[in-house]
Amino acid sequence: MGLTGLEIYKQLPKKNCAECGVPTCLAFAMALAGGKASLDSCPYVTAEARANLESASAPPIAKVVVGVGEAAYEMGDETELFRHDKKFYHETAIAIEVKDNEDVVAKAAKIEELKFQRVGLEYKVQFVAVRNTSGDAATFKQAVEKVANVTGKGLVLISECPTAMGQALEVVGGKKPLVYAANKDNYEKMTELAKTHNCPLAVVAEGLQNLADLVDKIVALGHKQLVLDPGSRETAKVIADFTQIRRLAIKKRFRSFGYPVIAFTTEEDPMAEANQAVNYISKYASVIVLKTAERAHLLPLLSWRQNLYTDPQVPIRVEQKLHEVGAVNPNSPVYVTTNFSLTYYSVEGEVEASRIPSYIISVDTDGLSVLTAYADGKFEAEKIGKVMQKLGVEQKVSHRNLVIPGSVAVLKGKLEEATGWNVIVGPREASGIVPFAKANFA
Ligand code: SF4
Repeated sequence: MGLTGLEIYKQLPKKNCAECGVPTCLAFAMALAGGKASLDSCPYVTAEARANLESASAPPIAKVVVGVGEAAYEMGDETELFRHDKKFYHETAIAIEVKDNEDVVAKAAKIEELKFQRVGLEYKVQFVAVRNTSGDAATFKQAVEKVANVTGKGLVLISECPTAMGQALEVVGGKKPLVYAANKDNYEKMTELAKTHNCPLAVVAEGLQNLADLVDKIVALGHKQLVLDPGSRETAKVIADFTQIRRLAIKKRFRSFGYPVIAFTTEEDPMAEANQAVNYISKYASVIVLKTAERAHLLPLLSWRQNLYTDPQVPIRVEQKLHEVGAVNPNSPVYVTTNFSLTYYSVEGEVEASRIPSYIISVDTDGLSVLTAYADGKFEAEKIGKVMQKLGVEQKVSHRNLVIPGSVAVLKGKLEEATGWNVIVGPREASGIVPFAKANFA
């Protein structure tokens, strides 16, 4: 929640000198409130007003960046407690753990390959977390160096020993890893290391009160790129702690909790671990450190993350296009559907599974699914006819048969009139496409 224009105006010098580029202080205040101006444009703001305005307009949860260049990943900067209030902004980062006394190169290489395509989007893992399981500083440093040579991803360094952390940061400090963690005993040294290398620092303490106290001590030492760990590991307790932290940060603007949070899975069974992580993604982990690096365990997790972080007011959609599935030829069947991603990719997957090369027209329905688009007048005969003309479908095939979704069978007559094509009513569900295609086009 930012300040209103009038609240900002009260803090401005009221000279109306226009040096900021707008005619009056009030106009400047309104521009600031709308995020269209920077406070730096006014040369007369007092230091006190600047401090007030900057702290009041700071996001309730700070933005913290791990990694540099292409690996840079933003966490936090969230403004909502509930997704339906607006949206969540920065997807939970997934970190896969590598122990410093295992074959770190092999595991890091495996993590590097974890990329998934779904509904036209690429899912991937963000970080590799190197844990100082050996307890030895030199082993940790070597492992961190080897991992950094294999991966282009951001790093999380896990060791509560300042000596080990210091040595590791000597080799990868420039990559801006997340330093895990400062605790009540080591926080001065860890803060110094994080400040020296300009790295984000995780703060761990048992219990929320202790965590808030420790955060305040670290902020007083001059470091504000923090990530919080309330120390709980049992799933229900972690969720309760994260919910409290989020609620206090957003609803009460409690500054000590205004940072991203980190979770660690504890389940040994990989499916149970993935389930645990799904809970943490939902409420409200900014980063989760997992042990499994298996695709089968991670894909549902990443799908859930994508669902949760999609703007609920903007359906995901594909481009309006004549898609070619397989090695099409002039006799290939032509299907038509909408450009809602889930609909389109369900149809595409089934058409592909039929092994009959085909065309699919994805009509732009503003990302609405078939029945919703039909009900809203966005998937009707005349429009489909125009889209077919625009995409030059007639020039691609020698036949004039068009398959429509079974749920809009009612379109058949009008569509035949509008296009002159023979309209075939296809199955109601995408899952019926394979038998339908085999019966009609094999
Ligand atoms: Fe007001 Fe500052 Fe703009 Fe002058 S430069 S009009 S004092 S806001």
